[in-house]
Amino acid sequence: MTYDVVVVGGGPSGATAAEDLARSGHKVAMIDRDGRIKPCGGAIPPRLIADFFIPDDMIVAKVNTARMISPTQRHVDIPIENGFVGMVDRESFDPFLRKRAVAAGVHPYTGTFTKIERDAEGTHVLFRDKIGGNTTKLTTKLVIGADGARSNVAKAEVPGGDKIPYVIAYHEIIEAPKKTATYDPERCDVIYDGAISPDFYGWIFPHGGQASIGMGSMIKSVDVKVATASLRETAGLTDCKTIRKEGAPIPLKPLERWDNGKDVVLAGDAAGVVAPSSGEGIYYAMVGGRVAATAAAASLASGRVKDLQLARKLFMREHKQVFRVLGAMQNAYYRSDERRERFVSLCHDVDVQKLTFEAYMNKKLVKARPMAHLKIGLKNLAHLSGLVSVLRT
Ligand SMILES: Cc1cc2nc3c(=O)[nH]c(=O)nc-3n(C[C@H](O)[C@H](O)[C@H](O)COP(=O)(O)OP(=O)(O)OC[C@H]3O[C@@H](n4cnc5c(N)ncnc54)[C@H](O)[C@@H]3O)c2cc1C
Repeated sequence: MTYDVVVVGGGPSGATAAEDLARSGHKVAMIDRDGRIKPCGGAIPPRLIADFFIPDDMIVAKVNTARMISPTQRHVDIPIENGFVGMVDRESFDPFLRKRAVAAGVHPYTGTFTKIERDAEGTHVLFRDKIGGNTTKLTTKLVIGADGARSNVAKAEVPGGDKIPYVIAYHEIIEAPKKTATYDPERCDVIYDGAISPDFYGWIFPHGGQASIGMGSMIKSVDVKVATASLRETAGLTDCKTIRKEGAPIPLKPLERWDNGKDVVLAGDAAGVVAPSSGEGIYYAMVGGRVAATAAAASLASGRVKDLQLARKLFMREHKQVFRVLGAMQNAYYRSDERRERFVSLCHDVDVQKLTFEAYMNKKLVKARPMAHLKIGLKNLAHLSGLVSVLRT
């Protein structure tokens, strides 16, 4: 049989794309290699929970405060108003999404994607079975590449797919204590300190009975394990039992093209789509899966290959501005401890808190308060030009 779409990868982007297509009546296969828990802090915004119908029992912790910590250990606690940041465990979240896709009619396959071949009969997706190592071939009209960072589909099929820049992120999952003087199971700590990461940040994210503690950096000489040990020590978490230690790349820049002009379109990390500054990728992967499904459905209906470009267009229409602002923030503030100190200082401003968190929670840059924007713009400028003394704020 010929599938309408074969989705490679069953993470948040692939499972979303596959489910959407099956729900709109298409014949869909989803190949996932399975067997590895995706290393991830698991923080998700309310917009994701609402748009993708995530049940409450998937949320292992509800966070009501974000603590921003500066290189000199000063901190600003930002209350999360009108909602919470949800925490999911990828060990159960990804299988939940895959099961939901299968319940909608997706055919699941377990194995490792190897290549795409084309002949007069169509496009064929080849994968190696997990058990036995035999190669299976699925014939399809279109392919969605949602196989994560360093995607093999992107590398083989889409120009630039082999050149996406990455941060290497590492974290340790520990058994978390109850509330202590330095750890709060309802608070996310975000650590901006060059000694932890000279170009990104460190985090402590609660996960109910567990916590994720980690950091990221593009710089190869940074010892991620030493940095994480230091985070644990400062938070009084050194003696907690370590459950897992793991790392993975986080892509830093969306590709200029997400389709190959023929029969493949990318989604999620495979397309390089993670928010700058925060490294937030789950929401954007699921939106990426959704727009890839929309583009694939449009292309199947019209017979026009060009419709595959819709995926990137739809995504960018909605999120380009937020990515631009976050990219500018990363460029401006993640360069030195002096700038990181200023950044945390800026977080004292209630308008900065409101705007940043509204942007995170609801994925919109609100335009309702022009004076607040102006004030933040000026304050930003003042901070960057050094007019505002760090000590004064
Ligand atoms: C340490 C760390 C912490 C993070 N913390 C957060 C966070 O707190 N919040 C947040 O929003 N984002 C976070 N991210 C980013 C987030 O995890 C990713 O952006 C998100 O998982 C991308 O989803 P995806 O579906 O595109 O890719 P993935 O989640 O990577 O899914 C890809 C899927 O494809 C499968 N696959 C891969 N290769 C093959 C192959 N050859 N054949 C078959 N199947 C294959 C894999 O098994 C996997 O299921 C973090 C990332 C890291 C590394």
